[in-house]
Amino acid sequence: AIDIKHIRQNPGLYEQNCIDRNYAAHSKSSWRIIELHEQWLALQQNARHLRERNNQIRGQLAKAKSHSAGEGEGQSRESLIDEAKALKAEIGAVEAKEALLQEEIDNLAQDLPNLSSTDTPVGTEPQLLEYINDHPEPEPSRSDRVWRSHVHIGSELGILDFAASAQTSGWGWYFLVGDAAMLEQALVQYALTVARKRGWKAVAPPSLVYSHVASACGFQPRDQNGEQQVYAIEQAEKDQAKPQLVLAGTAEIPLAGMKANQTFEDVELPLKTVGVSRCYRAEAGARGIDTKGLYRVHEFTKVEMFAWTLPDTNEQEHFAADTPSNSITIFEEMLSIQKEILLSLGLHCRVLEMPTTDLGASATRKIDIEAFFPSRREKDEGWGEVTSTSMCTDYQSRRLHTRVRLGKTGGKLEFPYTLNGTALAVPRVLAAILENSWNEHDYSVTIPEVLQPFMGGQDKIQGH
Ligand code: AMP
Repeated sequence: AIDIKHIRQNPGLYEQNCIDRNYAAHSKSSWRIIELHEQWLALQQNARHLRERNNQIRGQLAKAKSHSAGEGEGQSRESLIDEAKALKAEIGAVEAKEALLQEEIDNLAQDLPNLSSTDTPVGTEPQLLEYINDHPEPEPSRSDRVWRSHVHIGSELGILDFAASAQTSGWGWYFLVGDAAMLEQALVQYALTVARKRGWKAVAPPSLVYSHVASACGFQPRDQNGEQQVYAIEQAEKDQAKPQLVLAGTAEIPLAGMKANQTFEDVELPLKTVGVSRCYRAEAGARGIDTKGLYRVHEFTKVEMFAWTLPDTNEQEHFAADTPSNSITIFEEMLSIQKEILLSLGLHCRVLEMPTTDLGASATRKIDIEAFFPSRREKDEGWGEVTSTSMCTDYQSRRLHTRVRLGKTGGKLEFPYTLNGTALAVPRVLAAILENSWNEHDYSVTIPEVLQPFMGGQDKIQGH
């Protein structure tokens, strides 16, 4: 279902897009697709000639049958039958080659990243769009302000236990204990409440997904640098023939997959869902400061928004990589939900238009929000990503065979556009709350007001 014709017609566009997005290994794919397509056309022509000759022979044989044996002109009946047999085998061989070429073309096309939006800065540098809750400088990092990392605060308060998880699971895992465990539930409930108020439908998706569903969404087992991204499930011997299962890194995958091979009516769109799930990340390449604490972990809870919208109806715009008009409304709604949540939690944030090298495979455009973490002042001046919102145009729906019937244009089938965005990823937000709402004088943490109703009215986390 990938638009291979568009790739063949615009090889340079796809090559440059791969280079811009750091997919250099795929930058020649569009040219290779053209080559393979030419070979495929030649085979098709060859097959057509063979079939024509086959039909001719059938005609001759039929004619010969209606006359008495031996009266046929030209080739004998036996030699005609022999030639037909040889032709049949030859046609079979050509068709097999055609199928192989088609598969190779499909695989190359499947592995190409989405085209980048013209709103996306080319290169590695994001573009700063705005601050939420003011720029934190100089207050949180004022030299006379004592700051602590969430690891320190959480351990002192007895609500984060990394020593225990080192024994049970190793690096990158954690125990949330007491108030931290309750805070996780409060954050999930709060984010769900905000999203549901705006018409997002709650979904509890499965944590295990087929790896082909994950790759259709743009998630490969390894990233561009060859680092392992997902945990694969060992299959029981009796299940070896079944498709590989992996632990989902994000609810985006099962949510997108929920509508695989289905057709929406246009009036059903936009469809807005909000999923709560545990997310599993191998993070094999992670090193440095982020490996301490909650910032980069292997398992976490995330509330994720996922939506399907009508595609852009302007055929030309379909691939022009301008920001699509139908999904921009939902994209902005996702951002406004994220801002509302982060602002109400009292976090200092900045909003970034992410550059081409950060888009991954599926996004045409991506906006991240970063929060200020005093403990990360030595790194990225304290900024750390807390949400990410991607507009994926028809990248995922084409690969998952999700369609929409456009009533207005006589029932024409199109691919809907998909979008995904973090409503709230628990560990980083929890860490940011601990670090930003920590009170030096009594070593307590003030619970943001909006979370208090979900904590039975509790307003502070106090040491024991
Ligand atoms: P992503 O799905 O990778 O775009 O991430 C969405 C959000 O999940 C990020 O903005 C982070 O808040 C959070 N997140 C991603 N990876 C991790 C991780 N390994 N540990 C903790 N939080 C993460």
